[in-house]
Amino acid sequence: MYKYWGTLFAALVVMASCKDDKKEELPEDLTEMTIEEPVNTQYGFDFDAYEVVHDTVRSGDSFGELMLKNHVDYPKIVTISEKFRDTFDVRKIKVGKPYVILKSKDSVAKAQIFIYQNDKINYTVVDMRDSVVAYRDKKPVRFIEKQVAGTIKSSLSQTLDSLGVDYVMTIKLSEVYAWTIDFFRLNEGDKFKLIYDERYINDTIYAGSGPIKAAYFEHKGRPIYAFPFVSDSLKQIEDYYDQDANNLRSTFLKAPIKFGYRISSRYNLKRRIAYYGYKVRPHKGTDYAAPIGTPIIATADGTVTESRRRGGNGKYVKIKHNGTYSTQYLHMKAQKVKAGEFVRQGDVIGWVGMTGNTGGPHVCYRFWKNGKQVDPLREKLPTAEALKDSLKTEYFNYIKPLRAQLDSLEAGSGEQEELITFNDTNGTTQN
Ligand SMILES: [Zn+2]
Repeated sequence: MYKYWGTLFAALVVMASCKDDKKEELPEDLTEMTIEEPVNTQYGFDFDAYEVVHDTVRSGDSFGELMLKNHVDYPKIVTISEKFRDTFDVRKIKVGKPYVILKSKDSVAKAQIFIYQNDKINYTVVDMRDSVVAYRDKKPVRFIEKQVAGTIKSSLSQTLDSLGVDYVMTIKLSEVYAWTIDFFRLNEGDKFKLIYDERYINDTIYAGSGPIKAAYFEHKGRPIYAFPFVSDSLKQIEDYYDQDANNLRSTFLKAPIKFGYRISSRYNLKRRIAYYGYKVRPHKGTDYAAPIGTPIIATADGTVTESRRRGGNGKYVKIKHNGTYSTQYLHMKAQKVKAGEFVRQGDVIGWVGMTGNTGGPHVCYRFWKNGKQVDPLREKLPTAEALKDSLKTEYFNYIKPLRAQLDSLEAGSGEQEELITFNDTNGTTQN
């Protein structure tokens, strides 16, 4: 563990000093620093000084037996299992996990050090050379920045797969854009660009991908950038924002009309209407009364699934926002969008009218959740905070180079490039 400090410290110093030119300078400097260590240093130990046994925990194995077999005396094993429970709980070693035993090179071949690999990056050391010491540590992880650009041919996952990108990035990308793009309705020809990290241990062992450092998605010809940004440094809340600093995890607007409306009728399943002889006529929408011609806006990003005239609904528009939510806007004077069109939150989709079954000019706003109409005023909707104005300058400065990097990528070229960055920081893979 201690032998890494030199390397880590060097890496940190170098990172700080040549941020602008990390590609060229870092590898050389690092090599120089690591040369002084013994050639076969692993986990902070000189493996050449020991007899090394690599194995994996098998069904029925116990730490105690493994150690007894390797000539560790019983009291020491008891000490380990009792004293270091927080660091290394011997009862919790898992079948299939790799471990290393470093044994003395003499005739006794007594276990000196036990290294348990919690996951690809994290490991636990039980050092039994003198009085027992147990600690956890991490392998130095190298982040390799990847950039990839592509055009959707069939599905996002197939396209990313054909470019050699880990499937986990499909999930991450669809999470970033979950509120903006319906990934089940992607169009052939939609383009994307992606900058992310791949993690490697000892430069060779792949240890996962992500997070997304910057993304670009062109859906139906409309570009949407995505950049992660911490909006609340105290709570460390990170969200993805677009090129205009809009939160991509956009929640719904409160109303489909910007201003100058009043709610004339709320969602009410037990509504009785005099006209129908006071029979129950459920009202599954919220009515926003406003003058004819008032613009009606989309309450969230989505794809228009219907734009037509039918019966009592009159002229209406229905928008699918994601796998869960759709919204519908009735009695329009006229629609401004067609089915299949992609709209963003706040876009005008039509104008208030009196088409269909209505006594006065209003828009009946209907909110669908998993195919059922619910009351949006009572629904617990996902919240998304807008970026504070005070942070916007910082945000735009932060995204400038990332955006330039994305813009320099040729979407659709199918090329994948690597930019190597050295960050001997710790990985986060969990077992
Ligand atoms: Zn209504």
